[in-house]
Amino acid sequence: MSDQVKQIVIVGGGSAGWLTAGVIAADHRAGSDDGLQVTVLESPDVSPIGVGEGTWPTMRDTLRRIGVSEADFIRECDASFKQGSRFDGWVDGSTRDRYYHPFVLPHGYTETNLVAGWLERHADVPFADLVSFQPHLCAQGKAPKQAATPEYAAVANYAYHLDAGKFGLFLRKFCTEKLGVRHMLDHMVGIKTDENGNIAHLQTKSNGAVTGDLFVDCTGMQSLLLGQHYGVGFRSQKHVLFNDTALALQIRYPDESTAIASQTIGTAQSNGWIWDIGLPTRRGVGHVYSSAHTSDEAAERELRDYVSRTGGPRELGSPRKLTFNPGYREKFWHRNCVAIGLSAGFIEPLEASALALVELSAAMLSDEMPVNRATMDIAARRFNDAFTYRWGRVIDFLKMHYVLAKRSDSEYWRDNVRPESIPDRLSEQLTLWRHQPPSRYDFYRTEEVFPSASYQYVLYGMGFRPDPRPASRRADDAGRADGFFREAAAMTGKMLAALPTNRDLIAHIRRNGLPRI
Ligand SMILES: Cc1cc2nc3c(=O)[nH]c(=O)nc-3n(C[C@H](O)[C@H](O)[C@H](O)COP(=O)(O)OP(=O)(O)OC[C@H]3O[C@@H](n4cnc5c(N)ncnc54)[C@H](O)[C@@H]3O)c2cc1C
Repeated sequence: MSDQVKQIVIVGGGSAGWLTAGVIAADHRAGSDDGLQVTVLESPDVSPIGVGEGTWPTMRDTLRRIGVSEADFIRECDASFKQGSRFDGWVDGSTRDRYYHPFVLPHGYTETNLVAGWLERHADVPFADLVSFQPHLCAQGKAPKQAATPEYAAVANYAYHLDAGKFGLFLRKFCTEKLGVRHMLDHMVGIKTDENGNIAHLQTKSNGAVTGDLFVDCTGMQSLLLGQHYGVGFRSQKHVLFNDTALALQIRYPDESTAIASQTIGTAQSNGWIWDIGLPTRRGVGHVYSSAHTSDEAAERELRDYVSRTGGPRELGSPRKLTFNPGYREKFWHRNCVAIGLSAGFIEPLEASALALVELSAAMLSDEMPVNRATMDIAARRFNDAFTYRWGRVIDFLKMHYVLAKRSDSEYWRDNVRPESIPDRLSEQLTLWRHQPPSRYDFYRTEEVFPSASYQYVLYGMGFRPDPRPASRRADDAGRADGFFREAAAMTGKMLAALPTNRDLIAHIRRNGLPRI
């Protein structure tokens, strides 16, 4: 490697590799003489994982940053709009057990203590339905914007559901044709280090040595550079989040006019949960479960029952089985190698945090791109600190969904509330949240993966009821909160009348595109 950082080599052409390439190439003028040179080395022998269809609203910023047109993305990646998640059967498993985690902040969130107002006067209404118009949009299959709303702008905050295979190909085409990224289709067979232990070059099957100054490991769960070559340790989280296996199916709609769901639906099962994601041309459905608690056959039976209960076809192919070891690396950046994506870690797909972490990693790497080797270790320390914190918060947030469940119908749900399976910080916060709502004092970093509002939606959606404070403060004024609840209801009425359905807006965009700013 040279002292100046000029050449970035990304190994892996899955969603992580191409998103990282896109962000760095767009930010650092990869195509120009004075820009960075960005190469993606992708094996023709190892396919990308091909799942990962739910995203977080950060994806809008990332795609805009890379410079792609939103309409092209929607057309070519079979994408639809996602306005949050709906959780069915998580609290007690009854048929009425359902709540939303929408993306829009509660109306009046920073103005007053809405939680106190909710508990005092409206405790019989689901929290999210009272403080936000978005669950009502989701319930009616509405889009988060109008045909006249420009690309990436929103009436209601949104993310996407997308076809993972098409997404990788779309990004590859854009990065190579528009951003000057070099694409090398070859299999990496070895890694050579210099006398300081930095990676000097990669050996490939057909193209010889590939040199670089900074190497990004996007090789998926194998973690060939950071995990296998450098032997950076893995922090297993199986004792906290038990799910380690998934069975995935793609199923067709009964007909072309079937509504496209505006949210991911996560339905609790006896030993895991089922995701249900609506794309314009099909649904992606999968059962994530703990292999220590159930068998593949039993999990498949529950998946098939779910599909037939929810309007799926009678004839189904065999589901695709995926296994994973929940956890993350002890560090993510070591010497001149950074791991992004599955190579850095993976925890089950509840709340779709994996691609959000990829985007945050790519953005921080690009923003903090070291100019030379001398500053690289400083950037690495900051990166490792940021992502160790973020993985911890993702784990706390996901575990909270299980800890608050009142289900005791299987060993799985009973094991999930065992105190030794609950991270200390989460236990502590749950104690505090008995008396005060989650707030910015709990999540004080500038870019939290899940903000305090997300914790409120899930906490109260799961039936957690805080004790009222002994003394009321101005911020606990139920009258002020009522004003915001009335405004949220008025906004609901207006938006339901003005917004098209998800299906209608996507059909319009596929035909006519969206206005560009
Ligand atoms: C069941 C399941 C459901 C998921 N659902 C979601 C979700 O809803 N939302 C979400 O955000 N995330 C989800 N994820 C995670 C998501 O799929 C990944 O984070 C995302 O696809 C990124 O994967 P990747 O690019 O890191 O790895 P991969 O897609 O595995 O790509 C690895 C790349 O490395 C290359 N490679 C491997 N070996 C070599 C070699 N020797 N030489 C050169 N190249 C090599 C391969 O060719 C491939 O291109 C899910 C994951 C699972 C398992």
